[in-house]
Amino acid sequence: MAQQEGAQLLRRVPELDLVMGPQHANRLEDLLEEVFSGNQVVATEPVHIMEDITKPRRDSTMTAWVNVIYGCNERCTYCVVPGVRGVEQSRTPEAIRAEMEQLGSQGYKEVTLLGQNIDAYGRDLPGITPEGRHQNTLTDLLYFVHDVPGIERIRFATSHPRYFTERLIRACAELPKVCEHFHIPFQSGDNEILKAMARGYTHEKYRRIIDTIRRYTPDAAISADAIVGFPGETEAQFENTLKLVEDIGFDQLNTAAYSPRPGTPAALWQNQLSETVKSDRLQRLNHLVATKAMERSQRYRDRIEEILVEDQNPKDPTQVMGRTRSNRLTFFPGNINELNGNLVPVRITEVRPFSLTGEVLS
Ligand code: SF4
Repeated sequence: MAQQEGAQLLRRVPELDLVMGPQHANRLEDLLEEVFSGNQVVATEPVHIMEDITKPRRDSTMTAWVNVIYGCNERCTYCVVPGVRGVEQSRTPEAIRAEMEQLGSQGYKEVTLLGQNIDAYGRDLPGITPEGRHQNTLTDLLYFVHDVPGIERIRFATSHPRYFTERLIRACAELPKVCEHFHIPFQSGDNEILKAMARGYTHEKYRRIIDTIRRYTPDAAISADAIVGFPGETEAQFENTLKLVEDIGFDQLNTAAYSPRPGTPAALWQNQLSETVKSDRLQRLNHLVATKAMERSQRYRDRIEEILVEDQNPKDPTQVMGRTRSNRLTFFPGNINELNGNLVPVRITEVRPFSLTGEVLS
């Protein structure tokens, strides 16, 4: 919104001090200085993100997010990102590795490599192999950063089915630090809706990707994002989404009822669905998601899982919580002061759709 409206926002809401686009987030300190000197500030012009001013976000002292590519060149018809975040800009593998090495030396154990469409990583970087293959791909990056000392787990998000490769799946199976968890949004199980969304793949292709993942790593957790009630979605098309969810059995699915975003093509279409239809479909989908997630959770019962302890259980101070490699939230009795940041073997004793409970092995 800041990016779209810029200085107009200051005219509409004169009490605003600062209008800042996301590309300027790492200049926040300087911008606030200007505000404190009494200025109204607009920082929305497109800028090329420069390496030395990148200040990544840290939520915890043992898991960190590392941006590898900014922006997005896709044009999904519901999405505001391309309009506001600009074109793809990849960081160099060396800069990413250097940041991970620093994190490893500070005691971080887990890194999630981030990009709006992480499979696009490297397309804007130079580097072609003698066989003519681009050598700065996400797969190459995983091999390049895999042995960073101290980092025990590597994840990446968000994947795009259009660009997801078997080579990447093979790398994930080969590299022990890359966790067996794939987050690949499918958005809809219906080919017509996928076309209207301009996603660039079919549900058949999506299913083939999941089959390939399960061939290489049968136990991998699969999560995704889905939208229901996209403009023009019929009941039969929505049922195709249900069918995909039924067939694949996701470990987790982030669901949303479509909501029009200003400045996106789909927001202007006349065939919008009513809120009642959208919320009915969302409820039906969520019900199925929970049922399938519970089925997927069953496989953890009595298993020993490695948990990276992240915090105290906010509802029970006698317990700590962390995640399995497959990203299932897990609770078990323990003292956070002793266990924080440790990788602990835990026997799973209780399973729920989206979380587990266990007991630590001595
Ligand atoms: S949904 Fe994802 S891939 Fe599509 S335009 Fe938005 S950020 Fe890019």
